[in-house]
Amino acid sequence: MDLLVETEIACPHCGELFPLLVDTSQREQTMVEDCSVCCRPINLTLACRPGEILDVRESD
Ligand SMILES: [Zn+2]
Repeated sequence: MDLLVETEIACPHCGELFPLLVDTSQREQTMVEDCSVCCRPINLTLACRPGEILDVRESD
């Protein structure tokens, strides 16, 4: 099974969409990604099951 799943997230600062590769082997995870457009940090809360992303929440 491929545990790396690509999804698209929207930056809460500038609204830009960009792809994110998620390791779905962890059920609940939080991470901070820098927006590729405005370079501001985005706090991400992810809910996953192996091979699938169930929920993505972005906050600034
Ligand atoms: Zn941005």
